[in-house]
Amino acid sequence: MPERWMRSTLKDIRQYYDPKYTDVVRMDTSVNVLGPNPVASDVLRECETMDVNQYPKPYSDGLRESLASFYDVDPGMVIVGNGSDEVLDIIFKSFLEWGEVVVTMYPSYSLHSWFVKVNGGKVKEVDLTDDFQIRPNEVLDTEGKVLLICTPNNPTGNTFKVADVERIVKEWDGPVIVDEAYGEFTDTSFIPLTSRYDNLIVTRTFSKAYGMAGMRVGYLIASEGMTDIMNRVKIPYSLNRVSERMAMAALDKRDYVNRIIDTVDRERPRLASELKRLGFEVFPTETNFMLARSPMPSEELTGALADRGVLIRDFGTKRMLEDCIRTTIGTRELNQLLVERIEEVLSECQ
Ligand SMILES: *Cc1c(COP(=O)(O)O)cnc(C)c1O
Repeated sequence: MPERWMRSTLKDIRQYYDPKYTDVVRMDTSVNVLGPNPVASDVLRECETMDVNQYPKPYSDGLRESLASFYDVDPGMVIVGNGSDEVLDIIFKSFLEWGEVVVTMYPSYSLHSWFVKVNGGKVKEVDLTDDFQIRPNEVLDTEGKVLLICTPNNPTGNTFKVADVERIVKEWDGPVIVDEAYGEFTDTSFIPLTSRYDNLIVTRTFSKAYGMAGMRVGYLIASEGMTDIMNRVKIPYSLNRVSERMAMAALDKRDYVNRIIDTVDRERPRLASELKRLGFEVFPTETNFMLARSPMPSEELTGALADRGVLIRDFGTKRMLEDCIRTTIGTRELNQLLVERIEEVLSECQ
């Protein structure tokens, strides 16, 4: 029985969300709804002549330097990886002793606790308030080694108060991760604070606003004291050369990223008011997705929408998110399609 050979602390772990639908409109993954980043096809063409027999640079120096100049930090403060998921994995591998605790917020991104467990750690969750804000006193009173904060928060969509997060970074005795996977959609970032606080690690990704989820590129920015440790632990060569070049091109050519930011800013209030009209409770968001409480059981709603060719994400079984769904904020057309399908489902259920 292979199951009895499995590491005992991992037995409750399950495979990740992997819907088996084909030919559906995906509004469940919060990627860029304008389609793939237009730099992609150019870079892929250029890569036709690439010498694939050569390894990439082990620490992806080219992309690290591009990111460093983009954010005006030292290249030594940047680590890139195979998605920000790998970058999170590197952090836990570097800092967590067996059985040590990572403090996270609830509700937040479910893969966070998965990475902690896979790396032998334990998760302690501190509930957010009813309006999904962080509780600094409770967080600081919770014992743990590493602290993980996601702002803007997935799946709730809101950002936490800057002063709350900064106070926590200042007072927490250990590494603090701020996951900014949706940072491009807001004006606030904790990246500038990485030169002030040497325990702060900010992670970001090319998967969402940059429209390159399929290429798997993410990065972190932290003090060199922290990156020195993590570079010793990181798998060398984990980012392939094609992805690295594409990320550099995407960083450079920004009109598409600016266009999605404008699209989301324009469509967010329209989608919110449409969902409210249909009886949803809509939560404020500063990202390209929206959390809303459905007037009918969310599991039935998402199932019926999937049968009609539109995937959104069901969070209804989670505490504090009863009957909540999360949808990507689409283009005008996509949102219209979603709203029409929801109307159909609601009228059939009456
Ligand atoms: C999508 C997402 C990530 C993962 O990003 P990748 O770079 O694709 O691995 C990390 N954190 C949050 C909160 C996300 O929503």
